[in-house]
Amino acid sequence: MTGYTGRFAPSPTGPLHAGSLVAALASWLDAKAHGGRWLVRIEDVDTARCVPGLDRVILQQLTACGLHPDALPLWQSQRSARYQQALDQLVARDLAYPCACSRKDIETALSRLGQGRARHGELVYPGTCRTGLHGRTGRAWRLRTDAKTIIHWSDRRLGPQQQDVATEIGDFVLKRVDGCFAYQLAVVVDDAEQGVTNVVRGEDLTDNTARQILLQQFLGLPTPRYLHTPLVLGENGEKLSKQNGAQSLDTTEPLAALKRAASVLGLPEHSGSTAEALSAWVTYWQRLYNPVP
Ligand code: GLU
Repeated sequence: MTGYTGRFAPSPTGPLHAGSLVAALASWLDAKAHGGRWLVRIEDVDTARCVPGLDRVILQQLTACGLHPDALPLWQSQRSARYQQALDQLVARDLAYPCACSRKDIETALSRLGQGRARHGELVYPGTCRTGLHGRTGRAWRLRTDAKTIIHWSDRRLGPQQQDVATEIGDFVLKRVDGCFAYQLAVVVDDAEQGVTNVVRGEDLTDNTARQILLQQFLGLPTPRYLHTPLVLGENGEKLSKQNGAQSLDTTEPLAALKRAASVLGLPEHSGSTAEALSAWVTYWQRLYNPVP
């Protein structure tokens, strides 16, 4: 074993589909190519969107594909106390503050300022509650992105990236109105606590990375290396997702499913058993992403 720890972090809002298998396979291959550990984390922090029992389905689908975690999975729903500690740490340093604004309040404030939606239709929070709640009741908690927070990082596949979190994203939510901790906070706390050195996940998550690096810096946590994998597109050209009705992965033929995922990753066809194909792809992956000097 080397110092490498990787992970696959599915949200049990739907079973694995062809797109999520690409991320699962890539993160497994990268861990094996580095002689490292591969962990599975069930990201069920958003309880309202999670479907009971789907965590088990996902774990079975991974096992059927020959992707076995090197430790017991972690469930985010059991870790609220840890996320609260991280939030308390940020609040103590005045890096997080309570917010009383509804979506409507934010839209009204932004239109008063003559500002519309930012990229992806997200609203950049106008900062209404930064100076206090002024008698209103706090509903959520936000990160204070006061300083010019330009984050530079390099993706192992996509190359150099940068984002000014303060202006492009704004003071983002750490704990929501419904009491759920936000993905950004949970993922950063867990990656650090699980000793994750390399995050390999779908390209649709690339845009979250700068926010996560900023949080790591604020919480004094190490920053892993990142590699974002190509997405599987549906017939309409959109990313295949649970939301647009992606079919559950058919694990009665795991090799066929793995081959489709491997081809998205640019890995060659392989005939033979699932175990043989996986081990051939590890060698190939080593050449693609882990060149030996
Ligand atoms: N839970 C996220 C998802 O299923 C992945 C998070 C991550 O890999 O950082 O899309």
